[in-house]
Amino acid sequence: MTVPRRNLGLSDRKGGMAADTILKASTIITMDEARPRARALAFDSGTGRITAIGSVGEVQAATPGVPVTDLGDTVLMPGFVEPHSHPLLSGMATQEPAYWVSPNVGIATWADVKAIFTKADKERPAGDVLVFNGVDRLLQQAPLPTRTVLDQLFPTRPVVVIDNSGHGIYFNTATITLMGWTDGHAPADPVGGSFGRESDGVTSNGTAFESGALMMVAGAVLPKAIPHPLHSGALFYKLMADNGITATSEHTYNSGQFQAYAALASVPGCPLRLHVYHMSIEADAAADVTFPDSELVRKVGIKLWADGSPWLGNVAISFEYLDNPTTRTAQIEMGPRGETQMNYTRAQLDAVLDELVPAGYQMAFHCNGDVGFDVVLDAYARALSKHNLLGSDHRWRVEHLGAARRDQFERAAALGVTCSLSPFQYIYWGDLLDGVMFDSEYGSQWQRVRDAFEAGVRPSYHNDGSVTPPNQLLNVQQTVTRRTMAGNVHGANQAVTLDDALKAITINGAYQLKRDHEIGSLAVGKYADLVELSADIYTVPADQIVDKVRVLGTWVGGGKIDLDSYIAAVKAVDPTEHHDLTNQAAVRKCC
Ligand SMILES: [Zn+2]
Repeated sequence: MTVPRRNLGLSDRKGGMAADTILKASTIITMDEARPRARALAFDSGTGRITAIGSVGEVQAATPGVPVTDLGDTVLMPGFVEPHSHPLLSGMATQEPAYWVSPNVGIATWADVKAIFTKADKERPAGDVLVFNGVDRLLQQAPLPTRTVLDQLFPTRPVVVIDNSGHGIYFNTATITLMGWTDGHAPADPVGGSFGRESDGVTSNGTAFESGALMMVAGAVLPKAIPHPLHSGALFYKLMADNGITATSEHTYNSGQFQAYAALASVPGCPLRLHVYHMSIEADAAADVTFPDSELVRKVGIKLWADGSPWLGNVAISFEYLDNPTTRTAQIEMGPRGETQMNYTRAQLDAVLDELVPAGYQMAFHCNGDVGFDVVLDAYARALSKHNLLGSDHRWRVEHLGAARRDQFERAAALGVTCSLSPFQYIYWGDLLDGVMFDSEYGSQWQRVRDAFEAGVRPSYHNDGSVTPPNQLLNVQQTVTRRTMAGNVHGANQAVTLDDALKAITINGAYQLKRDHEIGSLAVGKYADLVELSADIYTVPADQIVDKVRVLGTWVGGGKIDLDSYIAAVKAVDPTEHHDLTNQAAVRKCC
């Protein structure tokens, strides 16, 4: 069949609604409550917009003379939306030439990680610098991969190993030599970071923590290890598209990424609409940013951080971690957390919001702990009131919310605040959360997805870039069954309906990106952003969705995505224009 290419230009988008393509599927799950099911849709490949949707007869009557492309058994849905990710940095950290060694891609133990180390050492030329990402002290019960540990595995070849949390980087003696650290001494600790040292107090032990120190190591090593960072980013775009995603976000944007995201959008056949959230710590966080094709990449918000990561113990929660060998191996500090884990005092938060809010962008707060959520909601309530935004369509967001309570979701909903949840926390860590990390009272309820829906915060789901692989169908399956990867159920009261789970990965995500008038459901006037599925999700057992429903392909703006062509075209882009990007991998703040 011949499918017209999506027109990337802007000039003709205001034209009429003359369809030139009709797609017929075995069924179409529209996610449009006015018409939940259809069999056919017509679109204009010039505007990329849907002009008719309904039965085959209705669509043909509305668009006479337009040929019908029959997709056979294929089921169509709106392309999935993942409204919180970090695709460019994730690509550099997880895609070739880097190695993804996270437990969340099936590397279960430290022994498995070491097997990949050995394989990589054998298959790569001797001079190559190797990057491994995703060692997890909790799930893999890995030792701290210090210089001593890594030297035994890599006596001569420079390697860096990035912690699954993104907060630590580990390296061997060859890397220290490569960086030119005199006598192997670690540099002085930078602001916002620290280097690990041997007992002599000066010699590097091959560890660095938090962005200031991470950046010094990654900035020196990654340009040598990742020669074409734009290609790495495109590979993460491909991974997302392979999983049915057609719209996502960059939640750690700074202006150093402008060229790269503009370039990824400008290559014909770009599979994702990208929405950037500018990091609040950047001097130009509130500045307007204009990308050449705003339909494919645009700035929508500003990202702030309230607290840290549950896997590192730096979340603002009201309850305590359990003290046992598992939490000790992961070096989680014991004792209550509360507001001591907040990145800002309440007064600082108020000042930051007062500075940023007048620019008119949506706010989005990283927050995992219940104490943190209270502080964020207090600060939001004050800022919304002060800036006359209460009752407006502001859609301020809060991200992750592992320990959030129902009453907090209710308060958020009353303020017009919407929440993007991290079911992956429960899916991958749930067996530890419930009873090993926390008392069951809290651990079984981690990620109160059902409470969030019932409170009315229009939750979406995300996998958060390289923290876990982008797989919205898995998120649907596991939130409907409330099962972990091992198949265990914790907190069955938080299971949701399939209807709600599908909203989370389509229309609710589009709402949070302020694109629900254009994407997230299939209706006349919206973009023909589609995912082709092998089966109707409603007809397969809930615990077999990922086995029975395969993603066959995606469409963006009425153009069928050809990922091989896209990757080849990105690879042909001169990498020297983008080599600065490798520095970006080091400035990633926690998820
Ligand atoms: Zn994130």
